[in-house]
Amino acid sequence: MTELDRIFSDRIADVPRSFIREILKVAMDPGVISFAGGLPNRELFPVAALKDATARLFDDHGRDVLQYGSSEGHPGLREQISARYREKANLDVPVEDILITSGSQQGLDLLGKVILNDGDPVVIEEPGYLGAIQAFSMYRARFLPVPVSEEGMDVDALRAELAEHRPKLMYTVPNFQNPSGISYSEANRSELAQVLEGTQTLLIEDDPYGDLRFRGQPKSSFLKLLPEHTVLLGSFSKSLVPGLRLGWIVAPPPLMQKLLAAKQATDLHTSHFTQGIVHQYLRDNDPEAHIAVIREVYGRQCRAMQDAMREYFPPEVQATDPEGGMFLWAELPAGLTAMDLFQRAFEDKVVFVPGDPFYVRGSRHSTLRLNFSCADTETIFVGMERLGRAIHSLMDTASQSIAADGR
Ligand code: PMP
Repeated sequence: MTELDRIFSDRIADVPRSFIREILKVAMDPGVISFAGGLPNRELFPVAALKDATARLFDDHGRDVLQYGSSEGHPGLREQISARYREKANLDVPVEDILITSGSQQGLDLLGKVILNDGDPVVIEEPGYLGAIQAFSMYRARFLPVPVSEEGMDVDALRAELAEHRPKLMYTVPNFQNPSGISYSEANRSELAQVLEGTQTLLIEDDPYGDLRFRGQPKSSFLKLLPEHTVLLGSFSKSLVPGLRLGWIVAPPPLMQKLLAAKQATDLHTSHFTQGIVHQYLRDNDPEAHIAVIREVYGRQCRAMQDAMREYFPPEVQATDPEGGMFLWAELPAGLTAMDLFQRAFEDKVVFVPGDPFYVRGSRHSTLRLNFSCADTETIFVGMERLGRAIHSLMDTASQSIAADGR
């Protein structure tokens, strides 16, 4: 223990550093093919349109957007978000229920801040989004992991956790989940809504990927199925750019008052300037056409990864079949761990995220997250061939050691 260690809060002691960010540092080497990041594809960033929007914003409203703004967020941008929910999702989201945040990650932090006391139970998906695990760990949450599969959340397991622990919060990513790429089916959503009805549990519907559907039909938002119990989080990170750090929370009025107090204590308000840029961009351009391009490209990249998997991976490897988003999730044959695979794959210059950090219990998991949004289809094939080789080699080593043990 150093002198400095004495000054750190108890709160920070339990918060895991982002394993993914550590891996991303390794993946900076230009020869490495990375399926590890959770980054949107930079080739699709509308740089010229954002530059024009910024220039126009300076010309027309330079002094306004360089001034402090309101804690709730840019009124015009909140209007645009509300109108899009009405037009695209047939959801009635009053402007007053929208709080602009510095990315949806800040939404998670603010919710933790206003809801959690030390040790409060929180339902989390298993596997679950690492950023949510980090955010709620800051408030010393006690996690109740509930498994998710291709259908959605395990309803019986949830029912048992609700009955035993009466958690205040339940965190979900129902569309193209990070890390697994799965989506909750319509039937699963209604069942979950029924189970939550009448409880005191608030459901967080974190939906940064909802717009990135490349096949199948959109599913009902929990905000429609369970309006009294749902806080919806949105983000411009995946449908526009992450670097402007803009997201939002849709919350009912009593919660909004508390969130506003927490927001003011944290940063007064989200950058008025970046909100102005996005507001101007949305006015001057066709954002739906831009999103359609992202969907098309990610759909193609996902299919390339699935094709490469069929070609290069042993058939024993199982994988999810995403309808959108940026990730798929694979499970290695019994006995192999993703951490061991990571070492071997890294030697062959390909990286991914081993499943371990996405679980709040247990270790040495055999699952891995593969990101398909960042690499073009050719690179995906090259990387998947290397990864397939690494899996085969790990399986060979495992079977040799079993044979040796049997001797
Ligand atoms: N929630 C989920 C499920 C995510 O995957 C991410 C980004 N990786 C976030 C929230 C945070 O996004 P933002 O950039 O809006 O803070």
